[in-house]
Formats: sequence, C-alpha cells, structure tokens
Amino acid sequence: MTVNLLGLDHEAMQAFCAGMGEKPFRARQLLRWIHHAGVDDFGAMTDVSKALRERLAQSASIGAPRVLRDTTAADGTRKWLLDVGTGNAIESVFIPEGDREGWSRGPACGDVTPERDASASGQVAGILSAGRSPERGPSSRAPRRYRGTLCISSQAGCALECSFCSTGRQGFNRNLTTEEIISQLWWASRALRSRKALAAGFGTAQSAVDRPGHLGLGERAISNVVMMGMGEPLANFDNVVAAMRLMLDDNAYGLSRRRVTLSTAGLVPAIDRLRETCPVSLAVSLHAPSDKLRDELVPINRKYPIRELMAACLRYVEKAPRKYVMFEYVLLSGVNDGAAEARALAALVKDVPCKINLIPFNPFPGIPYQRSAPEEIERFREVLTRAGLIATVRKTRGDDIDAACGQLAGRVQDRTRRTLSRPQELSR
Ligand code: SAH
Repeated sequence: MTVNLLGLDHEAMQAFCAGMGEKPFRARQLLRWIHHAGVDDFGAMTDVSKALRERLAQSASIGAPRVLRDTTAADGTRKWLLDVGTGNAIESVFIPEGDREGWSRGPACGDVTPERDASASGQVAGILSAGRSPERGPSSRAPRRYRGTLCISSQAGCALECSFCSTGRQGFNRNLTTEEIISQLWWASRALRSRKALAAGFGTAQSAVDRPGHLGLGERAISNVVMMGMGEPLANFDNVVAAMRLMLDDNAYGLSRRRVTLSTAGLVPAIDRLRETCPVSLAVSLHAPSDKLRDELVPINRKYPIRELMAACLRYVEKAPRKYVMFEYVLLSGVNDGAAEARALAALVKDVPCKINLIPFNPFPGIPYQRSAPEEIERFREVLTRAGLIATVRKTRGDDIDAACGQLAGRVQDRTRRTLSRPQELSR
C-alpha cells in the first residue's frame, strides 16, 4: 500500500523519509512541493533526483479528495464540496474580505477584533468591527489590506445535535482523516492561486515553493483558517491537531497561531489537551447564558456545564496566542436574544478575558427558529457593550450558496439514526 503524503506533518514526513533512507531535509522539500506549490505529481518536483522521484511514485501518493462542486456566491464567497468516499461529502468555504482596493467590508467568521496586528511583512493589518470606517483608503500608498478566511470541516456530519445547526441534523458518520482536513486548505490554496495569481503572471510552481501562498504584494490568498465548518473539531482531536500543525508549519502553510481558530461546542477535557498540545486561537460556541437554556440548544452542555466550561476557558487563555476567548452566540428570535439574556451573558463572562461574536441565525428548511431582527441584535449588542464587553455582529456571507454559518451540510450517510435533512443534496 502506498502512503498518502498529503496528511503527513513534519515529524511524520521525516519518519517517512528516514524509512526510505533519505535525509531529513527531504521532508522539508516534499512538504514545500506539496503544500506551497500544490503539486500532486512527483514528476513535477524538479529539484528531486529522477531516481528518487521514481521511488516515491512507487511507494507514495499525494491524494486529495475529488471536488464535486465549486460554487461562488455573489459576494465572492466560494464553497467547495469534496467527495470523501462512501457517499459522504464535506464542505469548506472561502470568505474574502476587503479587496484589492484595500477596503474592508466588516467581519465574517472568526473575526471579532478591533485590534491591530503586525503581520510578517511588517504591515499593520487592522481587523475592523462592523460599521467602522476603513483604516486605509484606496489612495493610500501603504501595502493593501486583504484578508481571506477559509472555513474548514473536521468531521463528516456531527454527533453533537445542537438544535439550530444543519450539520447536526444530518447525523454523524465519521472523523475526517488528517489528509481530508488539510486537503481543504490544499485545494483552496491551489484554486485561488491558479485563478488569481497565475492570471496576473506570478505564482509558478517554483516561486510558490519559495514564497508560500503569496499572490504578490505580500498578500496571501488565505490569511486565516477557522475550524468552523462541519463537525466538532475537538471530537477528532489527533487528526485535527496534525492538520493544524501543517497549517502552522513554515514549510507548509506558515500561518501564525493567532490566525488559526478552532471553534468548539465546549468539550472541556479536550480544551485542556489543546492548550497543552497545540494552542491556537479558541472560539467557544456559548449560545446561552444559563445551563437550562444551553442544555436545550447545545446538548453537550449536560455533560460539560457552563461553570466547567468557563473554568476551562480561563485555563486556556493562559497559553492562548490571543489573550482572550471568542464566545460565539447565535441569536435566535424569542429564544436567547432578550435583554435579560444579554445581561446574564455579561455577568457570566465578566471574569473571562473574551470577546463576543453575535451570529445572526441562518435558517434552513424545517427548522423552527427565526433570525432576530436587526434592532433586536443591536439592542443585545448594546447591553453587552454597556457592560464593558467587546461584542461584534458576524456578517453573514455566502447565504445564496448555503455557505453561511451552520448551513454546511455536505452530504453524509448517517450512521447514527436520523434521516438526511437535505435530500435535495443527494439528487444534484
Ligand atoms: N462544532 C463547532 C464548530 C461548529 S460551526 C462548534 O460548535 O463551535 C461554527 C459556528 O456556527 C458555531 O458557533 C455554531 O454554533 C454556529 N452555527 C451552527 N448553526 C448555525 C446556524 N444555523 N446559524 C448561525 N450559526 C450557526
């Protein structure tokens, strides 16, 4: 059997190379060809000897899942449906923000901060809260501001059954392998590079090996990754961590820990493990200020109640690359969006360094909840702001292609017990 090199992090790649009697630098070389250049053919690896290329072709492969569908929304959001076999498909979404003119359009997934963050190139990359004016106008001579966030899936389906989530509705099939997780970033980087950069005259395979993910002008096609697609990433711990190591590795995607965000419904022991193993930015799906309500919306709360979750967040912050936790709170009209809940939420988080990201509910067929009206969302946000918290409203993106938060359903053969919530996906 051949080894799929796509899923090997640096350590595993070194072990593979050692097994072939090769020196450790080969691991770096292979990682760069695969992840910087997006190469899936050993023959294209021009600085590897022909003899070694032939041996590699016999003992290894670079295999990503097939793309079943590739759709772009009116706002530029792009969604890929990947075939992960045995009737399962998973989704990943690319959310461009700002644009080549340097204007930011406000926060989407994982974006909460009105903060300034020095990037590798030394340019200041402001992250804007909704409604703030752009920090740089198009006439500025400074490098242009661009952000691209890729939202990726960690499981085929999800076992957590959050009451408002479409992935949860279709049941759980299996954990994704490391290569299936990283291949979402691999495909997206490749697709974005080939469309934009190659058209603009840069981005040859060799230059991509030398300059990871660059489109020119110091810009990256994908500057941020959020584990906010299908599935609960902490329920697939080892594969998710191996994939995140590749995201962070300079020989692969070279993202900073601050720019990789893992979102969890609150698996307390795994939050502690993550803090020790691979601390990245953490988002926690809170959605309710009391156990009574959270038990209903996020059933895993019955196992790990709010008090334990808050304590885990406090422990996490000690090691986190961002010194706060981002609490996600989906606003469901008449359910959790009243002033009383906002006050209870403010009281609950007052001792945890945090920011709050309010998510307007994204409806899907057969769901009893409704999105809160914009005035209700604003009122909720104001209560939090008056209590001294930083609260932003997540901008809904890509809803014309069902790419908005909580709408990712892919297509999963439910091995649990439920029926598919979106049978139309199967007939397409
Ligand atoms: N299992 C992880 C990742 C889930 S998706 C988690 O629970 O955090 C990322 C976010 O989208 C979560 O906060 C999730 O609660 C939210 N979400 C799910 N369904 C939604 C919907 N229909 N509308 C808006 N947000 C939703």
